[in-house]
Amino acid sequence: VGGHPKPQAGPMKPAGVDRILAIASGKGGVGKSTVSSNLAVALAKQGRRVGLLDADIYGPSQPRMMGVSKRPASPDGKTIIPLQAHGVTMMSIGLMLDPAKAVVWRGPMLMGALQQMLGQVEWGDLDVLIVDLPPGTGDVQLTLCQKSDLTGAIVVSTPQDVALLDARKAIDMFHTLKTPILGLVENMSTFVCPNCGHESQIFGHGGVAAEAEKMGVPLLAQLPIDLETRVAGDAGTPVAAGDGPVSEAYAKLAQGLVA
Ligand code: ADP
Repeated sequence: VGGHPKPQAGPMKPAGVDRILAIASGKGGVGKSTVSSNLAVALAKQGRRVGLLDADIYGPSQPRMMGVSKRPASPDGKTIIPLQAHGVTMMSIGLMLDPAKAVVWRGPMLMGALQQMLGQVEWGDLDVLIVDLPPGTGDVQLTLCQKSDLTGAIVVSTPQDVALLDARKAIDMFHTLKTPILGLVENMSTFVCPNCGHESQIFGHGGVAAEAEKMGVPLLAQLPIDLETRVAGDAGTPVAAGDGPVSEAYAKLAQGLVA
């Protein structure tokens, strides 16, 4: 802790962690962090021991979405004690940085920070560690795929063409790095008007399903554009922590992933 993290040699699979699932997206703003936090909470509700690592160096959202802001303690200056929220053990690069300052780090520093969060955080025994990646196909993704024992990746996309275009690149990257792709999640797939019940396909429809079929990967879930999802995310109590159709959709996604 403190100073600029430096990359270290060695594998980056914390002892005691059964599986590492990376949540990726081609673009920012498609709901990758929302899916990460809700999936983590849904798994915890099903009795899983879950960790959530916010590796979105440039825009860490998990402190806000999970409702934590405390700087994690490091009693010995080496190990870092993660925080607990909604039954999930969590750590975010955002908790170690000044939230108002932009991060301008080069590749080796990013890798060092990632290695710190994997290696120095006391994750304990976990059934699954969910990693919320930065959007795109940069250094963090490369490092994680090449140096850690990733069980697989989930790619989140919204249905419109410009998002799918970038999701395809993310899928391509995982193929190249031989990281198993567990499937695609279509977020903001439809909007049901709370007043009249009319369903609108704001970002189009079926794009992610078609892409999944073309790429030969499963479509894991289709999650609606939902006011409660956004409000709950901003309030630090993920929608999956409550009841209702979206919470149920996350429960189903969680069940299918960690059988
Ligand atoms: P990313 O991690 O891909 O950048 P976020 O998860 O931060 O995206 O989501 C961006 C914004 O969109 C947030 O304000 C979030 O609450 C909102 N959002 C995400 N998914 C949904 C959804 N299904 N319905 C409504 N708002 C959503």
